[in-house]
Amino acid sequence: MSLNDRLRQRILRLSLVDKRVLRDWLSTLIEAEETAPALPSAKSEREVVEQQQVGRAVYQLELIKCGKANCRCASGKLHGPYWYGYRRENGKLKSWYIGKRLKLEETDSQTNELD
Ligand SMILES: [Zn+2]
Repeated sequence: MSLNDRLRQRILRLSLVDKRVLRDWLSTLIEAEETAPALPSAKSEREVVEQQQVGRAVYQLELIKCGKANCRCASGKLHGPYWYGYRRENGKLKSWYIGKRLKLEETDSQTNELD
């Protein structure tokens, strides 16, 4: 029996009241996860200078390490700082490049999907 089957059996045995409580709790949980501020993964070589949360998006002023071995950033002179936007959409983390000055509008053509 998989975890899913056992879970289903337990849920089936709950009272109507408990099922309602479970449903409300789940929807709160899902809502929180879907609207959680999206942040870049820790593996990225970037240093966050400033951070702003606007609605469901997070804007970060970042110093970037491009990763090229013979670039100036390899010896500590990082690129930028540049503003990036991050947002979670249908569970996926989306990011977009803004530039040296923070602009809060976003266009779809600039949006990348990250995993
Ligand atoms: Zn570089």
